[in-house]
Amino acid sequence: MSIWSLGRQGDPTSRGDDELRMIPQWSIMLAIVLFVAMQYVFHVVMPHHKHELLPLRLMMSYAWGTLLASYALLLGYVSRDVKRRGMSAGLWMLMCVVLPGGIGAVVYFLLRQPVLSKCPNCATSIAATYHYCPQCQFQMAPVCGTCHRGVKITDVYCTQCGHDLAQDGAPARLRSYSD
Ligand SMILES: [Zn+2]
Ligand SMILES: [Zn+2]
Repeated sequence: MSIWSLGRQGDPTSRGDDELRMIPQWSIMLAIVLFVAMQYVFHVVMPHHKHELLPLRLMMSYAWGTLLASYALLLGYVSRDVKRRGMSAGLWMLMCVVLPGGIGAVVYFLLRQPVLSKCPNCATSIAATYHYCPQCQFQMAPVCGTCHRGVKITDVYCTQCGHDLAQDGAPARLRSYSD
């Protein structure tokens, strides 16, 4: 095992790196282009008046540039985020562009589905609500053997039907007590 693989495994910031990698190159480029374009519009295209203040113009161009740039980064993030949640990319990109003032993005963050995970046994995409893998029956979450409702990993009896969970023969990784 090399020192590089050791470093990657123990790296507590790798989760944050993953989130940053969710922003594609094209949206970073678009953000820079939009920011520069706003500076151009405010300083070159728009007519200069004698009585206006330079600090105000600088502030306005910076504010608009930052706003549009963050919009581009947000679009980039959404375009990748929809894919790992199994949602419609075209529909949500359109929502974020068409609804003004970032309302589309707010609606997206409220309504987005949980991230799909992979079955450890056969790598099928699994939604967070699944108790079993639909392809290979690998058990993802602890369930009651009688009423098949979800139970907590620490439960000894089912909270819904009182069934003794020790009788179920659930895999040891889904039980904290085994007697
Ligand atoms: Zn599976
Ligand atoms: Zn039960």
